[in-house]
Amino acid sequence: MAVAIASDLTIALSKGRIFKDTLPLLAQAGIEPLDDPETSRKLILDTSHPRVKFVLIRATDVPTYVQWGAADLGVAGKDVLMEHGGEGLYEPLDLKIARCRMMVAGHPDADISSRRLRIATKYVNAARAFFAARGQQVEVIKLYGSMELAPLVGLSELIVDLVESGNTLKANGLVPLEHMHHISSRLVVNKASWKMKHATVQALVHALREAVDAST
Ligand code: ATP
Ligand code: MG
Repeated sequence: MAVAIASDLTIALSKGRIFKDTLPLLAQAGIEPLDDPETSRKLILDTSHPRVKFVLIRATDVPTYVQWGAADLGVAGKDVLMEHGGEGLYEPLDLKIARCRMMVAGHPDADISSRRLRIATKYVNAARAFFAARGQQVEVIKLYGSMELAPLVGLSELIVDLVESGNTLKANGLVPLEHMHHISSRLVVNKASWKMKHATVQALVHALREAVDAST
């Protein structure tokens, strides 16, 4: 069902799995990109709808663009939203794409209840909250990628990372130790856009909800 669009809309997406998995949902709402982001170098993509454009940014930047109103809507992983904090955003819809789990992992003999733990992770807020809720004081070390390396070279005892199949952990001699959160991607909406462009945003949320329900 094509959505009636009565306002200009900018939708923030990140390249890779989120873009690939969001496209079929947006297509069902009648919105398709006119360029392929994998071959085009454009950061702003026109779509089949003259009033809708996509902006392509890093996954971690999506909540920031939406919070500041540079994009009306966006798609971001729950992991990214937990770190951002969700200020200035509504999160009306679980798109149920890019699903994985946030886990504590480490060597098979690592003691997750130990008193002096260092945790290496991209997800410092989620890691702090998780161990604080267990009553454990830990030292959290911020990394930007390749977390699996940290326990191998003694940077930390444990890591907090996203796990899909567990193959990357396994290839590095690590195992999942605790499941922290189920992760999937969410539609986020700027709070001012939610009010000012209400009819259009609601119509799009409704169409996407139907697309999600039809795909699950
Ligand atoms: P970059 O790879 O550019 O550093 P990124 O890792 O945040 O950034 P992606 O790898 O495209 O970007 O991940 C985007 C989102 O997809 C993540 O925020 C997360 O919600 C989800 N995701 C990440 N890894 C996995 C995975 N292994 N399986 C399923 N979903 C994942
Ligand atoms: Mg990645």
